[in-house]
Amino acid sequence: MVKKITFACVLPNGIHARPASNIEKICKQFVSAIEWHNLRTNVTADAKSVLSLISSNTLLNDNCHLLIDGIDEEQAYQRLSTFIENEFPFCDEALTSTTDDEITPLPRSLSNLNPHIIRAKAVCGGVATGVLKQVANIDLNKIGDFPAAESIEKEQNKVKNALTKLTKVIALQIECAAETSKDILSAHQAILEDPSFYELIELNLSSNLTAGAAIINTAKFFSDQLINSGSEYLKERVLDIRDVCFQLLQQIYGENQFSAHQKLTAPTICIAEELTPSQFLELDKKYLKGLLLVQGGTTSHTVILARSFNIPTLVGVDIEILKNHMDKQVQIDGDLGFIAYNLSPQVMRYYQLESNLNAKLAEKQKVFIDVAGTTADGTKVEIAANIAHSIEAQAAFNSGAESIGLFRTEMLYMDRHNEPSEDELYNTFCQAIEVAKQRTIIIRTFDIGGDKPVNYLNIPSENNPFLGYRAVRIYQEYLTLFRTQLRAILKASAHGKLKIMIPMISSMEEILWIKEELANIKQSLRNQKIPFDEKIPLGIMLEVPSVMFIIDQCCEEIDFFSIGSNDLTQYLLAVDRDNAKVTKHYNSLNPAFLRGLDHIVKTVHHYGKWVGICGELASKGSVLPLLVGLGLDELSMNSPNILATKARLAKLNRSDCRLLLNKAMDCRTSLEVEHLLAQFRMEQAEIPLITTQTITIAPDWLSKEEVIKGMTDNLLVAGRCRYPQKLAEDIWLREDVFSTALGFGFAIPHTKSEHIEQSTISVTKLATPIIWGEEEVNFVIMLTLNKHTAGDQHMRIFSKLARRIMHEQFRTLLTTSTSAQEIENILIKELEI
Ligand code: PEP
Ligand code: MG
Repeated sequence: MVKKITFACVLPNGIHARPASNIEKICKQFVSAIEWHNLRTNVTADAKSVLSLISSNTLLNDNCHLLIDGIDEEQAYQRLSTFIENEFPFCDEALTSTTDDEITPLPRSLSNLNPHIIRAKAVCGGVATGVLKQVANIDLNKIGDFPAAESIEKEQNKVKNALTKLTKVIALQIECAAETSKDILSAHQAILEDPSFYELIELNLSSNLTAGAAIINTAKFFSDQLINSGSEYLKERVLDIRDVCFQLLQQIYGENQFSAHQKLTAPTICIAEELTPSQFLELDKKYLKGLLLVQGGTTSHTVILARSFNIPTLVGVDIEILKNHMDKQVQIDGDLGFIAYNLSPQVMRYYQLESNLNAKLAEKQKVFIDVAGTTADGTKVEIAANIAHSIEAQAAFNSGAESIGLFRTEMLYMDRHNEPSEDELYNTFCQAIEVAKQRTIIIRTFDIGGDKPVNYLNIPSENNPFLGYRAVRIYQEYLTLFRTQLRAILKASAHGKLKIMIPMISSMEEILWIKEELANIKQSLRNQKIPFDEKIPLGIMLEVPSVMFIIDQCCEEIDFFSIGSNDLTQYLLAVDRDNAKVTKHYNSLNPAFLRGLDHIVKTVHHYGKWVGICGELASKGSVLPLLVGLGLDELSMNSPNILATKARLAKLNRSDCRLLLNKAMDCRTSLEVEHLLAQFRMEQAEIPLITTQTITIAPDWLSKEEVIKGMTDNLLVAGRCRYPQKLAEDIWLREDVFSTALGFGFAIPHTKSEHIEQSTISVTKLATPIIWGEEEVNFVIMLTLNKHTAGDQHMRIFSKLARRIMHEQFRTLLTTSTSAQEIENILIKELEI
């Protein structure tokens, strides 16, 4: 008798080469036939074949059966049951560790199409399609033979000339490069100019090696050091060393002999085991639509560059599975974190709809790029960007930032194996100033230590890093580091509008000490006749609760505050911001926290000073009315949220928001505040249940999947929902229980969901019928009602609609209507809404 093991696939990346080979190995120990049946795809695979297992297209959460049939089926059943229960969840550990973020589930409109996908870690969002092309590695071990060595002097000269030439080439590139690339080229220049780099080459040359072999040995030595450093940042610098060394070889032996150039001639998704920054820069950006890297973390220079060019990028990609798909069309999804291959026409259509949606949204939000953040009643709220590197500044301003509200400078220190010099820092700040064109940049002095270690500073690890030795607390010990940064900021302030902000201030002693340091440095600059902004504002992060009670005193000493809501929440509520176990307590809607914020803003304004907010809370659309109610002067956030925030702000009224905040502060629980916010969204002026914006006539949608996707996407475009995929999932959950096709060609999909912000009745009149469950449907009325505010509205409208649809007259009215307006009028009248 056939034995069956029933289970769900728990592997985030599904069954790809690695887990498949584990399964195959175990199954091959038995003579019984063993089949892997994926119930979702309905594909049955031979569990003794890796390829067959991969082709079952088993993804996370797919329900599966293992079917065992043969003389040793009992033993196989025992072994495989143990495997599925105890070993299977861990058999893909290495790969999942590179994708440690939560895996976003596929939207149903896509997963129902059974796409072939490979998960990987998304490091730059966006979707794109193109032909898959592999870019060859620069492998210094396989570079081949060099012409025999000449005299030591001659080999030395070859290296010296190459160093000089390459330095010039890079200097020229820096001059012409877009702002974004300059930094990385400067890092390469720094390697070339590093004395220990040439010293080691020379040492190798002295034992009669060729210039080429000496360069390769040097590259290997430094790479090994970085790899062994144990730091992810440093490991990612290996590629830069290899890049520079390869370019040196090209200088000495000619580019033709060592060519790494890949010419792109059509929209392409490039895949590479690893890609050096200069290889990336050489790729024609007109055709480079997406990037897949086997290696490369979130901070490698290549990844930073890809982000600055806004190229959807995934890292940790399993290249083996894609080997057979070279030169074929693939789809990269940098939002959901996967590559789709073997694209079916349906999957291609899904992405066509996705691109159309993105184009519509971009068009709609474009109007906000150059306007100042303003509420409907004319209150200005500056909308600023958070950046971690000057190369991000351009993208921030392009995304509508009015200023930079937080330049986190830690990364300037983490991205290297020794500290940056004053000149380097000065140049970096000047780069951001050049792009800012008189717009303000708040530079936060380094927040190193605690959970943000910098290896070369040798700060011992701590049990309680968030309460430990970090930020301003380490400045006295690392005085030169701090003074150097202050000098660089002050010198750069001569060229643009900079403000200085100090992180983690918790007492007046720290403020006074900082002011003294700043005054001394200013004096020494004056003595040296070095210009700087004498009136450069000095501010502090307000993220340690003690400061809330000395705001009056602080206002006598400093010019501005920025609320670090990430840390302030964790310190005020005593909840570790990174501990998943206490996430539910980490809630900035806690009325106590809101009261704290109100106290801060009122007191700072009472003393005539400025206060912004730069933690994650600043970008939360649902919380925006409370932030406006607080009367904050500025909200600073990651660039992609800026336009949506300006658009929302334009709909809010300052006094309504203040009343809402007062009510929120009177709530007893965070949940009550959430209900209040949902209620507020619903009550906002003239947001009717039906709008022509979400009535679509004869769209180009060919299936139930496309209709649900199209209708929920329309709600996003209409500004009624923020996460259409989550809303669509709620619709699908209902469809799973019973199909909502009600006969007569009508379907009424419906949900009461937290993902719809303004309850809406959407309509689609199709030109050609589609299959909906068992029935043909050509008219869809979708009810999406807000969970917090709907009450019994959901069932009332649904049953009214169901009753009306029984009447032929009502159906004819709708099916013969020719405009969205006509449909809207009919529904308002018939449903009495
Ligand atoms: C904060 O704490 O809110 C903040 C912006 O600083 P960081 O997240 O860098 O600690
Ligand atoms: Mg902080």
